[in-house]
Amino acid sequence: MLVNDDGIFAPGLAALREVLQNRGEVMVVAPHEEHSGMSHAITIHRPLRLKKLEQGYAVTGTPADCVKIALETLRFKPDFVLSGINNGANLGTDVLYSGTVAAAIEGVLNGIPSIAISLAGPQDFLPSAAQMVEELLFVKPGFLVHPELLPRAGVLNINIPALPREAIQGVRFTRMGVRKYDSFVHQHQDPWGGRYYWLGGTPSELESDELDVDLVAVDQGYVSITPLRFDLTDYQELERMKT
Ligand code: MN
Repeated sequence: MLVNDDGIFAPGLAALREVLQNRGEVMVVAPHEEHSGMSHAITIHRPLRLKKLEQGYAVTGTPADCVKIALETLRFKPDFVLSGINNGANLGTDVLYSGTVAAAIEGVLNGIPSIAISLAGPQDFLPSAAQMVEELLFVKPGFLVHPELLPRAGVLNINIPALPREAIQGVRFTRMGVRKYDSFVHQHQDPWGGRYYWLGGTPSELESDELDVDLVAVDQGYVSITPLRFDLTDYQELERMKT
């Protein structure tokens, strides 16, 4: 099953579909519109609509809603949930805001091995990213042909550098770093004189040079693969507090 947070018409979803379509049965359930930055939000205060389009099923909700609808309503029984290919990186603390990663987590919460895939840069590199994804899933390490390689109770978070295939340095297994942003809040006025605000930001300079950090790996031209778990408990602190 394929899902994303950029919406059902996103080129990254089409690219991922192309990689998979001759390898097995592919089902697509994706948000009707873009829902980046929605994290694990679910829609419980308004109705959801489901529409069958050429691209797959479109849901008027969030990425996590899509996975719920696919499993509960459409009765899909997918072997894997693949989320992406996201338009932009999901590195470091981006993961906490990511609808792409959340959709994959929703898959894992339902007992399905799930992978989040992101392209850390402009969409022009989608063809080379798709080629890389094909290699990772079916050749080396071949996560879909050797599913025993996947985490049993967590998500694989894959980020692909925006480079031509031959310029990608290799693969690094990494841990989640911290991504800092120079963030802004722009203030504007609507036509009736009311104020509104627009949030945004650009990633600031990398502070870390530790090779096992996801951000550093991608910055150095490597594919970053991080096993994530959603148990946010800090076990070290837990022990300290108990004493
Ligand atoms: Mn997105």
